[in-house]
Amino acid sequence: MNANISARVMSTPEICSAAPDTPAATLPIYSVTPFTMLDFPGRTACIVWFSGCNMRCGYCHNPQIVKGKGRGDIKQVMDFLRKRAGLLDGVVLSGGEASVYPGLPDFIREVRDLGYAVKLDTNGLRPDIIRDFLEQDALITLPLITKLHLRNSKE
Ligand code: SF4
Repeated sequence: MNANISARVMSTPEICSAAPDTPAATLPIYSVTPFTMLDFPGRTACIVWFSGCNMRCGYCHNPQIVKGKGRGDIKQVMDFLRKRAGLLDGVVLSGGEASVYPGLPDFIREVRDLGYAVKLDTNGLRPDIIRDFLEQDALITLPLITKLHLRNSKE
């Protein structure tokens, strides 16, 4: 599955190309949307927007996030999530491309430990991240062409 996804993306260079480099950001967070009822079906959620991406798609809706610098760190996000624990059901990880952040698996585990379900919107180019999700009994849906939407729920 992952090989097919990679092949599909890389075979459309006119609209997608790999990013020249994706440095590990010390401030990986572009912003946080504190509340949404639209982005995590069946759940109240917030959205954590990760800056940077390993692709450069001509049709990207968030170029300012893809090419922008992070403005916040993981500690700030965890402080926010601790305050919202029990008030929100889920956390959407989006961007940009969240899987570019090297600490993502540990971050996801910390978020789940607070009781949140996690939804990861990813371009699928990091199969190791997807495998980590699968090993945590995640559900996977493939509703769009360019993004995988992975859900990770504790119940
Ligand atoms: S965020 Fe998505 S659409 Fe935008 S450049 Fe990255 S992979 Fe492409």
